[in-house]
Amino acid sequence: EFVAERERGAGGPAGRASAPAGPYAQAFGGRLVLVTGAASGIGRATAFAFAEAGARVIAVDRDPEGAVRTAEMARLLGAPEAAAETVDVSDEAAMEKLAAKVAAEHGVVDILVNNAGIGLAGAFLDTSAEEWRKILDVNLWGVVHGCRVFGRQMAERGQGGHIVNTASAAAFQPSRFLTAYSTSKAAVLMLSECLRAELAGKGIGVTAICPGIVNTGITATARFTGVSEDEQRQLRKKAVRLYGRRNYPPEKVAEAVLRAVHRDQAVVPVTPEAHGLRLMSRFTPRL
Ligand code: NAD
Repeated sequence: EFVAERERGAGGPAGRASAPAGPYAQAFGGRLVLVTGAASGIGRATAFAFAEAGARVIAVDRDPEGAVRTAEMARLLGAPEAAAETVDVSDEAAMEKLAAKVAAEHGVVDILVNNAGIGLAGAFLDTSAEEWRKILDVNLWGVVHGCRVFGRQMAERGQGGHIVNTASAAAFQPSRFLTAYSTSKAAVLMLSECLRAELAGKGIGVTAICPGIVNTGITATARFTGVSEDEQRQLRKKAVRLYGRRNYPPEKVAEAVLRAVHRDQAVVPVTPEAHGLRLMSRFTPRL
């Protein structure tokens, strides 16, 4: 059903009388969309964009107040139904519980956006095993858990669906200061591509979204560890030149997410910098 409607596309026959207008209302109106990391930044903007298209939205985050605020706003923006759930995506049991609860209360998720993530900027030799574990737990395992628990439900239902995983331009580009982060995102990228191949036969699309630098909390607070303040400033400037010259707003990433689901795109380097890095990928570390 989901796939058939997507194939008819946004220009298909007019939807319900009360459905929100906009390019994606036909495709996403009434769909159940779950976004992780929805309390702020890209996740919140994505939840809002789906709400504006008339989707039912579940905002998941480890930050309870932020998730509730996103759900409240989503309702105001046009979501016929919006709920908030406080979950740490790296906690497998909690994710299993979330999937069961969502299925019982709302039904099977049509579109899953595994977006929750954390940043870490520091040289490999200054990064502890504990820091590695933490970033892989959230950025990789969080996505694995999401794909497993919700992907299984989608497959069992047999009506297709879509999974979006937020990777990063950092997944394409080796860097002296983003080893752990880039490794986690490169893994998300490959996971998405492999899963896409596996789930294609079930009508479930999988997309890896790869933004460059976007204006969110994660970039505002990012710090390179193990370097002097002076070097810190230089590196930040260099990172902006490489990954994000254009002050990219999270709303534009959200637009790219909806477009990618609608067109069933595989890997989406969102920002111009990410496009460039994808093309030049894996040559010389530039940061
Ligand atoms: P953000 O910090 O504004 O949002 C991240 C959200 O994830 C927060 O609400 C946070 O509470 C939540 N979160 C973190 N760990 C969690 C956990 N264990 N369980 C549940 N929720 C958790 O940052 P953002 O930029 O919106 O980041 C969203 C995603 O985009 C991340 O995966 C990030 O790596 C990725 N990304 C960001 C940029 C950028 O420049 N901002 C670029 C490329 C990729």
